[in-house]
Amino acid sequence: MTNDFRCLLCEGQDAELVFPRCKDYYLGTPHVVDYVRCTRCALLQQFPRPPDTSALYSDYPIHAAKSPLFKLLRRVVMADMYFSPAQKVHATLLDYGCGDGGFLDTLSTRRDLRLIGYERGAAQAAHVQAALSVPIHSTRSALLASEEGNVDVLTLHMVLEHVLDPGEVFADAQRLLKPQGTMYVVVPDAESFEARLFGKKWHSLDAPRHICFPGKPHIQELAQQYGFDLVRDRPAAFPNGFAGSLAVVLAGRFHFALFAALLPFGLLFSRLVPTGAHAYWLTKR
Ligand SMILES: [Zn+2]
Repeated sequence: MTNDFRCLLCEGQDAELVFPRCKDYYLGTPHVVDYVRCTRCALLQQFPRPPDTSALYSDYPIHAAKSPLFKLLRRVVMADMYFSPAQKVHATLLDYGCGDGGFLDTLSTRRDLRLIGYERGAAQAAHVQAALSVPIHSTRSALLASEEGNVDVLTLHMVLEHVLDPGEVFADAQRLLKPQGTMYVVVPDAESFEARLFGKKWHSLDAPRHICFPGKPHIQELAQQYGFDLVRDRPAAFPNGFAGSLAVVLAGRFHFALFAALLPFGLLFSRLVPTGAHAYWLTKR
């Protein structure tokens, strides 16, 4: 289709246009982007890609501090997506792309876990570190210098779809984890029934912030390339996907009050058809 396309996973040079002119329904920024599918590896990805994604995250509500009620609701609503560490494991757990620190916060009472976070952007990392009293690194170099070979569990909750180089994340995980360490990845599933139902209005498309949507063949390929074994995978219920998409269909944009009103339907849908996101457990070789 284009002369300068390079797949960000397989470096294939040909792609078909899947979703042209996708608007930012979630934040309403003026960005409009296209999604294409690599002809060789079938990875759905944004093209052309932004040279730097940091400008897309100013005022990103997912990174903002939350009320206690919101935190409780999130814990209930999103429980199926988050990694669940075994009890009394005495492990170091790194949440890579920890956002507002919500997942680390749910583990803050666990005395057997040493918690670490990584979130790009010094101000966001400092803010989360102060709020949780957990070390949060804001650069890959500092993270690797401090924790290389120390980590037992590395979690990526809805992170891989945001990055410009998924291979770099797997390379970091390989260096950070101990041998036989666990990597947990959960990503929106672009092949799911939910994604097909809503197309360009699928909440988890989240244009322009979501760059690519690795599915099981891509995770397997990355695992093979960077020295991991994929040991388990399953659909993960993500109620926001259905509720957020329906809000866009009804209102023409993301509308928080409507989204909140539809969330019970999202909960029901995601339990009946738990396909909006997919979770993977990998072991470092
Ligand atoms: Zn490809």
